[in-house]
Amino acid sequence: MNIFLVYAHPEPRSLNGTLKRFMIDHLRSAGHAVRASDLHAMNWKATLDADDFSARNPAAPFDPTRDSGDAFATGRQPPDVAREQANLRWSDVVILQFPMWWFSMPAILKGWIDRVYANGFAYGVGEHSEERWGDRYGQGTLAGKRAMLVVTAGGWHSHYGPRGVNGPMEDLLFPIHHGVLYYSGFEVLPPFVVYKTGRMDAARLTELTIALGDRLDTLQTTPPLPFRPQNGGDYEIPSLTLREEIAPGRSGFGIHSIA
Ligand code: FAD
Repeated sequence: MNIFLVYAHPEPRSLNGTLKRFMIDHLRSAGHAVRASDLHAMNWKATLDADDFSARNPAAPFDPTRDSGDAFATGRQPPDVAREQANLRWSDVVILQFPMWWFSMPAILKGWIDRVYANGFAYGVGEHSEERWGDRYGQGTLAGKRAMLVVTAGGWHSHYGPRGVNGPMEDLLFPIHHGVLYYSGFEVLPPFVVYKTGRMDAARLTELTIALGDRLDTLQTTPPLPFRPQNGGDYEIPSLTLREEIAPGRSGFGIHSIA
């Protein structure tokens, strides 16, 4: 398979750096082709702004959606953005690896998404009308591919449990899993999360890499998170609210998964 790793940690000698090298070696040893974007090493530009669009009319206010769409449609995107989109198209599986910083991804990775997920590429795809709100949530440019998060967190597993003080990890990751990955078409695999990173030693690292290796060996067969497709009949048109008879009386992130 073709596997594209997008990695966001500023220090190669970190735990994340160790896990990144392990993943690349493991995947290549198993015969996969691997491309890796190390965002800090690449000095990735994290802000989506007018500097990305040299061909835009400088007299007009910068409009991220319109200017991104125009640049995508006319082949005038920044070369770094076009290269990352080509990596996404090339891949069968995408892995986003990052330390949890303030209950989300580091800004450099968010900026990678803001810029690479261009209008026409990751959103604004398909028919938009009163009856249809595009190809997204299970459909879109990246449909047919799989994606997985590899996340490290200082907090304990229990802190992120159903009644943990931080809130459930599946809820914290929902905006990335559902809003970023599933939105653009990926099948989203359950995340690989390393908790309690402050208590790491060689023995625990060995256990972790064995577990991570198992996940890498089953990328093709692991069942994805069972999110509901937008255009599969579960949502009312045009409000895009879940039909009343599905998960009656319930709300929240959980209703967008098939129980
Ligand atoms: P490192 O700090 O590099 O390493 C962690 C431990 O592993 C260290 O003890 C190190 O010695 C050991 N180690 C590293 N490499 C090896 C090796 N090869 N062999 C053996 N041991 C090794 N945590 C949360 O839970 N929620 C948050 O919202 C959150 N927000 C944060 C915000 C910021 C800005 C920062 C800086 C941290 C935050 N944290 C949070 C903690 C953060 O998630 C962890 O510090 C991070 O995930 C640890 O990953 P690392 O790669 O930086 O680990």
